[in-house]
Amino acid sequence: MSAGAAAFRIVLATANAGKAAEISAIFERELGPHVDLVPRPSDVPDVDETGSTLEENARIKAHAIAAATGRPALADDTGLEVDALGGAPGVHSARYAGEEANPQKNVAKMLAELAQVPAPRRARFRTVALISWPDGKELMADGTVEGEIADSVRGDGGFGYDPIFVPAGGDGRTFAQLTAAEKNAVSHRGRALRALAARLAAEEGLA
Ligand code: IMP
Repeated sequence: MSAGAAAFRIVLATANAGKAAEISAIFERELGPHVDLVPRPSDVPDVDETGSTLEENARIKAHAIAAATGRPALADDTGLEVDALGGAPGVHSARYAGEEANPQKNVAKMLAELAQVPAPRRARFRTVALISWPDGKELMADGTVEGEIADSVRGDGGFGYDPIFVPAGGDGRTFAQLTAAEKNAVSHRGRALRALAARLAAEEGLA
């Protein structure tokens, strides 16, 4: 960045601290000082995810934050697709265990649903990441990681379904047993965000 040039400021739509940390680490690595990711202002309310696809939900979230803040906003939406469940919970992953769902309940429900399904219980995480500008412009990228659902929880890193997701091509550890850098290197969100960062750099001439 040339001396004195201001970093390109983007507001993060997520209020999930684990996710915000992952996104910031990846953008910092890809774009260094060229981009300044700032948290969602506390007075900007959560947005209902009413879309029927990951792309629609990412767009709804990013667009709402861009409109509320007057700045470009970055949102992502993720689904876990389990082959033995016909691709569920997919876009409904956050509420898999119902309206009162939380990560522990979601994980417990999935292990119960798959109790009779022999390994490997193939699955994948899919993420759509999107930056929306207040004028309606947007950039989008997606990323996928293949893997399988473990038969019990392992590890305490990460968040969400990480303790039961074993990425393909690894050493058998779940996402929750990997370091943040190890997870980001292969994860759905890492892939989507690196692709998005490259598009942003090209679009805005960041180098
Ligand atoms: P969201 O679209 O990022 O809000 O995520 C939807 C659901 O997938 C939530 O239940 C999250 O906890 C879960 N989820 C999202 N990303 C990950 C991840 O990287 N690892 C494990 N679970 C995740």
